[in-house]
Amino acid sequence: MDERIIKCPYCGFEGSSREFYYMYEAVLYYTPLHSIEKEDRERPVLVICPRCKQGFFLESPYKKVVEFIKKQGME
Ligand SMILES: [Zn+2]
Repeated sequence: MDERIIKCPYCGFEGSSREFYYMYEAVLYYTPLHSIEKEDRERPVLVICPRCKQGFFLESPYKKVVEFIKKQGME
């Protein structure tokens, strides 16, 4: 149900969502006041192709997959 076919936009590799790697990007801003603030908004999960190792973001059709992966990653 949560498994979708993802296609790499770079090399054309197609595989299920489980075959790809995922990177969670936390963005920190270093302000002139020397305080580090975490970005409020969550960044989309970066999907990394297992074949060419290029990273890309999933588009809205895959939003449910992204949410599913996020839930798993936060456990
Ligand atoms: Zn690829």
